[in-house]
Amino acid sequence: MSAEDYSVITENFYRLGFDRNESAGNLEMLKENIRLIIENREVILDNSKFFFTQPGCTFTGSSVHGTFMLPVGILLLLWENECFIESCDECGGKVLVFNGGSSHSMGSNSWTGWCRDCRSMRKGKVSSPMELLGPAMELMNQYPNQKKFKRFKKDHPAGEQKLHETAHHEEVMEDFIEPVSFGELIMELKAN
Ligand SMILES: [Zn+2]
Repeated sequence: MSAEDYSVITENFYRLGFDRNESAGNLEMLKENIRLIIENREVILDNSKFFFTQPGCTFTGSSVHGTFMLPVGILLLLWENECFIESCDECGGKVLVFNGGSSHSMGSNSWTGWCRDCRSMRKGKVSSPMELLGPAMELMNQYPNQKKFKRFKKDHPAGEQKLHETAHHEEVMEDFIEPVSFGELIMELKAN
């Protein structure tokens, strides 16, 4: 079989869907535990099962690029890089942005975050479509969590009966790191 007899298909972890009901509950949990998460930076960044935990309420995207879920580790790195940070319109403090982007499904051109100084939820407008997505994409490429399949082409001769077609044969080349749930992460950090 020659090298051209298969194609590599990638399933992107950052594009996996989320449950909207669950994500609303997790926003409360994120607000309540944001200090705990920041204080445990090292623990989260050192453990892939924690790094890739998706709160469900943290995402970015654009109408062109679609929606990407942001795991806790990516959010921590964004905040450290002074990305996903806005100034609070109430107290002038630092707002840690959880989600936002420029598509209709995200409430077009807006962001939502938590002011760590006056401890309130804030909303604002993004200044450009790539303001949030650009730095997030850079980190997602730097920290991929993908399942790659090697999918082989059908190996029957052309014209052979449908009955004898062999199914596309797949071989997993790389596995996802299955993260713990957001609830589990919080429990682990509290137990530390
Ligand atoms: Zn504030």
